[in-house]
Amino acid sequence: MPARFEVLLSGSVRPGVTSSVSLVIDGDSVVVIDPGMVHAKGELISELAARGLSPEQVTDVVVTHLHLDHTMNVGIFPNATVHDFMASYKDDVWTDHDLDRFRVAPNVYAIATPGHTREDISIVVISEAGMVVCTHAWWTRNGPRLDPYAFDQEVLEDSRARVLAIGPSLIVPGHGAPFAPGELDLA
Ligand SMILES: [Zn+2]
Ligand SMILES: [Zn+2]
Repeated sequence: MPARFEVLLSGSVRPGVTSSVSLVIDGDSVVVIDPGMVHAKGELISELAARGLSPEQVTDVVVTHLHLDHTMNVGIFPNATVHDFMASYKDDVWTDHDLDRFRVAPNVYAIATPGHTREDISIVVISEAGMVVCTHAWWTRNGPRLDPYAFDQEVLEDSRARVLAIGPSLIVPGHGAPFAPGELDLA
């Protein structure tokens, strides 16, 4: 059965920078993708509460990369396993994983998409509404075309192509509203 996917908060760059924050309900798994810096303390908890969820019920948190505007809130979920590009972390246990075989939940997995940083991953969700990819390959639907943080723009372009090639119906960019691939309009 596909997962339920929802964007909890659309990211922003100004005024106030925070990542897009997404929620996946996949069987017994409650997954938060990029818990972000958010606009105010408690905002993420209120968004979960509005959906009948407490921080204790979150089973997994996965981050696209390690910048603090995407990761500040990883610690507010006492029961969650946190995942990044290289490992999964629960309490004091660090378990390395191989991305090729790694799944966060049955319908949630990651692909390597370096570019914005070397450790960037994109999170693929097979949802009721089709395939969704949460990724920092794009900040927003409109750009910037050249990522000012990219260590190598060509590597980022390859990652963008890789995301588009898997045929998502929706892309959740690092800092903007979700869009369909055909709506990309990079400035
Ligand atoms: Zn970043
Ligand atoms: Zn970002």
